[in-house]
Amino acid sequence: MRAESPAEITEKMRAGFRAARGRYLESGLACLQKGALPREHTRALVIACSDSRVDPALLFGFDLGEVFTIRNVANLVPPYETDSTTSHGVSAAIEYAVRALEVEAIIIFGHSNCGGINALLHMDEHGGGDFIGHWLSMASDIRREVDGVPGLSHEARIELAEKRSIMRSLENLRTFPWIREREERGLLRLHGWYFTIDTFHLEGYNSGSGEFESIFTE
Ligand SMILES: [Zn+2]
Repeated sequence: MRAESPAEITEKMRAGFRAARGRYLESGLACLQKGALPREHTRALVIACSDSRVDPALLFGFDLGEVFTIRNVANLVPPYETDSTTSHGVSAAIEYAVRALEVEAIIIFGHSNCGGINALLHMDEHGGGDFIGHWLSMASDIRREVDGVPGLSHEARIELAEKRSIMRSLENLRTFPWIREREERGLLRLHGWYFTIDTFHLEGYNSGSGEFESIFTE
């Protein structure tokens, strides 16, 4: 059930902005000062799903100016490609974060109960829409991978696909030559994190073990 009507949503936004203005205007945050350069303050890029429950700023307590965020359906990163006839919105944002802001970390932030991954696994039944099917098709082989694992429950199948999509996005990040080069020089670290919404738990991908492991301690 939706909590607010459209009019109540915009009123809530105005009230929220008023509160933020009161909080930040006098805060003296360096990144808000006239002439401030975001490059001096922004140290991380988070690539998250557009799902309303997984807002990185809210979940990780980032302040204004601290994190550059890309959000899309299923937190996917396309592979590096130079086809100039296609608009590469995600790649352009990644390029800005890495080459202009010079972030020191990129976190792929996936989550449980992801509608995008669920759509990826069931596209034949529900169709791909005007755009969603094509967007998700970059990860279509994940569906084949998951379908090749015997004995998975419905929930386990979705979780495996959600985690494989994080791993795929990490692999695709490394197809960008200036990301690979910065990682090799120790200037940039790549992370894959998985948020389980119902238990509010956080796991990180360990490339050594090839597993997702808890990175959360109370
Ligand atoms: Zn999602």
